[in-house]
Amino acid sequence: MRGANALYEGHRLMLPGLKDRATATCRGCRYYVLILGREENKPACLATLDLYLTGERRVPGELQARDFIWLAGKEALVKAVEKVRPERQACGFYCPRE
Ligand code: SF4
Repeated sequence: MRGANALYEGHRLMLPGLKDRATATCRGCRYYVLILGREENKPACLATLDLYLTGERRVPGELQARDFIWLAGKEALVKAVEKVRPERQACGFYCPRE
């Protein structure tokens, strides 16, 4: 039914703040943190850990891989690294850096 209305596509409702969120990428997110490993450094999403997502602990500028593993384990580290999308659109947990 939506396709039948030619005017529908031209009238999109954009809520305040939604445009910033829609154009944002992980790079601008406060949860985007560099994880320092022994051989390489990789960005990861700290929103995967409740500790940081709830604000219980301050989000650091960078984090040692051994500290992340100590906090949440290796599987969580892999998940956090895989979740980051530096060039693609940010997810629903996006929070701009202050
Ligand atoms: S995946 Fe979401 S919460 Fe994590 S760094 Fe990217 S935008 Fe932020």
